[in-house]
Amino acid sequence: MQTEHDPVSRLIFELSKLPGIGEKTATRLAYHILKQDEAYSRALAEALLNAKQKIILCNQCFTFTDTSPCRICANTERDQSLVCVVERPSDVFAIEQSGSFRGVYHVLHGVLSPLDGIGPDELKMRELITRLGASSIREVIVATNPSVEGEATALYLSRLMKPFQVKTTKLAHGIPVGGMLEYTDRQTIGKALENRMELHA
Ligand code: ZN
Repeated sequence: MQTEHDPVSRLIFELSKLPGIGEKTATRLAYHILKQDEAYSRALAEALLNAKQKIILCNQCFTFTDTSPCRICANTERDQSLVCVVERPSDVFAIEQSGSFRGVYHVLHGVLSPLDGIGPDELKMRELITRLGASSIREVIVATNPSVEGEATALYLSRLMKPFQVKTTKLAHGIPVGGMLEYTDRQTIGKALENRMELHA
């Protein structure tokens, strides 16, 4: 058994904290990194630090960005009255990759999950309501993932938005139940956006 001070074990330990990375994969990644030139480790470490130091949350949509407002919010050619609500910044990336959305986003940074102590205050929900009150938004597409928590969050949001009488829609079926937007292919996301349905509170 290697000690926690052993550099290889420490690398494996840090990598294994990443989502979806078990100890086996972390070990494989660690040995892969160690096989490369030192320049690669340096580039990887710098990219990690640089991203962490320079990336902030957009003050409008709360996605990860290096400028605030982000490039999407600042783009005058985007439809600012059409807001797509997503769970995470990676969902913004997935929808952008589909090329089928010309509106703007609102990132919740999670979903309601009472068992994990995540309630409305832990998410960017109040900020969404503030946006609804402050700017002329005609439609909100709730694009949370089709999981139990995602659906519950969508329902909660639609109730919260009801007083604003803004059109509220959700993505059409097509994203597999229990599936994740970020792992869904572009065409499916495009179709789900195009065929979005009214969301009733
Ligand atoms: Zn933004």
